[in-house]
Amino acid sequence: MRLKLLLLTAIVTLTSACTTNQLTGRKQLLMTSVDQENEMGAQAWEEIQKKEKETSNKDQTDAVLRVGKEIAEVTTQYNFDWEFKVFESEQANAFCLPGGKVAVYTGLFKFTANDAELATVIGHEVAHAVLRHGGERMSQGALQQIGAELLRVGEVGDAWLQAYGIAASGLAILPYSRKHEYEADEVGLTLLARAGYNPESALSFWGKFGADSDSSSFAELFSTHPMSEKRLKEMRKQLPKAMQIYNTIPEKHNLGVIY
Ligand SMILES: [Zn+2]
Repeated sequence: MRLKLLLLTAIVTLTSACTTNQLTGRKQLLMTSVDQENEMGAQAWEEIQKKEKETSNKDQTDAVLRVGKEIAEVTTQYNFDWEFKVFESEQANAFCLPGGKVAVYTGLFKFTANDAELATVIGHEVAHAVLRHGGERMSQGALQQIGAELLRVGEVGDAWLQAYGIAASGLAILPYSRKHEYEADEVGLTLLARAGYNPESALSFWGKFGADSDSSSFAELFSTHPMSEKRLKEMRKQLPKAMQIYNTIPEKHNLGVIY
């Protein structure tokens, strides 16, 4: 009886969970609301801050605040409670949790030559959040968990909530799918252009490393954001559209501060 009720709930949830993303026009499976996603993002942020050490490097902190603010402004995500931090770590990585909690690791600065290249990474991460990729990933994860549970014991119990818990804890460390990467690249480029940073910086940043970087610290960024020659090719295709937007921006930063 309980199983039937659960399956019924799952079916109702699924049919009401497909929403069309305004930015991409793609149908997304989302079992979470924006508020729930932002709440989970805030919780994960609390946990991460307990583990990570904030840097004392003022230049890097200032750069992330300066660039982050510009990117955040053009997203018009008024339901986001933005925060920007730089954590001390060798790894070259960054993330943006649902709700706008942005972290950059100090290792990333070895690979950024200016504000515009930093904006490339922040814009890409913010795009993942704006496009609700975290919510989508959690929904997919939860669905898999529930499927597995149903097969295993024929009844679910707390599995639904547990699955969300498991998925939420992986928000910052799970790799994104290729589809998510392409979307974040495209929307990220748009954000970069609208914030007044030269979109060519996206190609100079990602292109520097190509598809086969030898750097182990840079490999961290690839582990959560799989890079490929095809991704670069797609970005090159998106560039003219981004340049068109960039050319309409009255106050351009171009490359911004050079490091
Ligand atoms: Zn990504």
